[in-house]
Amino acid sequence: MKLLRYGPKGQEKPGILDGDGIIRDLSAVIDDFTPTTVIPENLDRLSRLNLQQLPAVSGKPRLGTPVTGMQKFIAVGLNYTDHASELNMELPGEPVLFTKHLNCLNGPDDNIELPEGSVKSDWEVELGFIIGTRAKNISESDSLSHIAGYTIVNDVSERAFQLEHGGQWMKGKSCDTFGPVGPWMVTTDEIGDPQQLQLFTEVNGQLVQNGTTANMIFPVSFLVAYISRFMTLEPGDIVCTGTPAGVGVGRKPQMFLKPGDHMRLGISGLGEQNQRVVAA
Ligand code: ZN
Repeated sequence: MKLLRYGPKGQEKPGILDGDGIIRDLSAVIDDFTPTTVIPENLDRLSRLNLQQLPAVSGKPRLGTPVTGMQKFIAVGLNYTDHASELNMELPGEPVLFTKHLNCLNGPDDNIELPEGSVKSDWEVELGFIIGTRAKNISESDSLSHIAGYTIVNDVSERAFQLEHGGQWMKGKSCDTFGPVGPWMVTTDEIGDPQQLQLFTEVNGQLVQNGTTANMIFPVSFLVAYISRFMTLEPGDIVCTGTPAGVGVGRKPQMFLKPGDHMRLGISGLGEQNQRVVAA
């Protein structure tokens, strides 16, 4: 299933994409996609619906994040061999974790606002997963069963804020609009092996990232178990799993976002995001 939320920001309704690419309204079936509703019982119930009997949504509505009200948005850094090498950084011995604060959440096609003083804003296409059942000290063999679905995250990053202002990476990762999620949460049954997905980013039509999740240093199954040792993952929590090579800071010469730029990002089976960059 491809589950989504559509409508104006703050007034999104739950929907599902049918086999013809038409959004079907789920308002009569479920209140919204939140930590209390992205649980297996509900996903099972939705999977038995006859979508043809649900109201079709006309036009091309704005999409919001596919889940709302989550407690955490966690990111994994330096998790691709090709990305670590473009930055001349050693492969980490354990996953690098950091926070994207929830204020950065953005719909998949909403504008990206460059913060005041931004000179090095950059893109990072990433496989995201959304937790469906609580995970605390779980084992790796059990970990994929805790995931409700997968999605795309653009881990937009201001490199000067991230690396040149001291302290943690958080400063460059949590600016308003820097966390587009979506277009859908694709349930795990449609994805199969999360380590066999292609990812790409285009900036103004130029292919800048073209990678595969096969190059992850720590696979998704390891990450869920690993993170659950340090904090309890709750339903609705989003984790983005690192980016492949081709970010602006790793290019020669370096390349950063400016107002008017257009980003297009995609992952196999998970759809696409399209963002216009604007001044804040
Ligand atoms: Zn990232």
